[in-house]
Amino acid sequence: PLILGLESSCDETAAALVDGDRNILAHRLAGQEAAHAPFGGVVPEIAARAHVEALGPLIEAALADAGKTLADVDAIAATAGPGLIGGVMVGLLMAKGIALSARKPLVAVNHLEGHALSPRLADGGLQFPYLLLLTSGGHCQLLFVEGVGRYRRLATTIDDAAGEAFDKTAKLLGLGFPGGPAVERAALSGDPKAVPLPRPLVGTAEPHFSFAGLKSAVLRARDAGIHKSEDIAASFQQAVVDCLIDRTRRALDSIDGATALVVAGGVAANKAVRGALEALASQYGLPFSAPPLWLCTDNAAMIAWAGLERFRAGANDPLDTPARARWPLDPDAEKARGAGV
Ligand code: ATP
Ligand code: MG
Ligand code: FE
Repeated sequence: PLILGLESSCDETAAALVDGDRNILAHRLAGQEAAHAPFGGVVPEIAARAHVEALGPLIEAALADAGKTLADVDAIAATAGPGLIGGVMVGLLMAKGIALSARKPLVAVNHLEGHALSPRLADGGLQFPYLLLLTSGGHCQLLFVEGVGRYRRLATTIDDAAGEAFDKTAKLLGLGFPGGPAVERAALSGDPKAVPLPRPLVGTAEPHFSFAGLKSAVLRARDAGIHKSEDIAASFQQAVVDCLIDRTRRALDSIDGATALVVAGGVAANKAVRGALEALASQYGLPFSAPPLWLCTDNAAMIAWAGLERFRAGANDPLDTPARARWPLDPDAEKARGAGV
């Protein structure tokens, strides 16, 4: 099948066309960095308005790039949550309008499922089940991915997401926005051992992640005024890597039958993170899979692909499907979680 995918849950507006042979026929993306940069973070109202302006032209451009029309498309997939509700509504409403007028099925995609299945778009050999570290701007989870729609959450963050910690560290160090790539760049000329920073929860029996204490330690290190910001950036990045690896190792020890270790989400674009996970996978004799960098951060190809996997499995969502600000991939784990976890 040929699927048109739309993404608008945060500050990327995107449209893409993907087919069942994992061909990405077109992918268009409009970032909003310049609009949000003065505020040092994403402003929801500005984001929603920017999605309204960008989405129509991006869809037309993607169809033109692929040499296709809406008549050639088998289904329209759009992010229906979780995310900034205004932006999610813009993309989902657009998808509903197209579905109605072009008489095509709608597939409402969970943005996290987009990240979770993106490695299978990039890697045709990747089979279920796999252990996934989903690490992005809003989430940090370990998921045992057993199939399309079957995600068992083994761990989540009890406070900040790893990407959020990168963004806050960049802001504290005055490195700019978005923070992840800026911290990675600064870290290249810094010493990862220069600044002693905590590794929250590392070595504990509990499975979860925590990054808030690390961020506070970065603030104290900055205010102490004795370290170069490159050294703080490198030491921070190393601390994040150590936390991710320790928690992932714990999850690998707790599960049976994973055929691969996989990473996805914006933080998966970080080379230190990828390298450390690849080494961990090889210690466990597992193949390692990570999407190319552009497929790690938000894009519409992963939404089209998740839509395609769900469409092939029979999904066809009603036109009154709601946009959702919150939408856990594993509702049972979400319900069972204790206060704050
Ligand atoms: P979510 O997917 O949880 O809803 P999101 O869609 O905003 O959140 P993504 O687009 O998947 O998040 O990822 C963006 C995050 O990834 C940001 O926090 C950004 O700083 C981080 N990030 C991007 N590139 C890198 C990098 N090279 N190193 C570290 N972090 C990075
Ligand atoms: Mg973004
Ligand atoms: Fe995302």
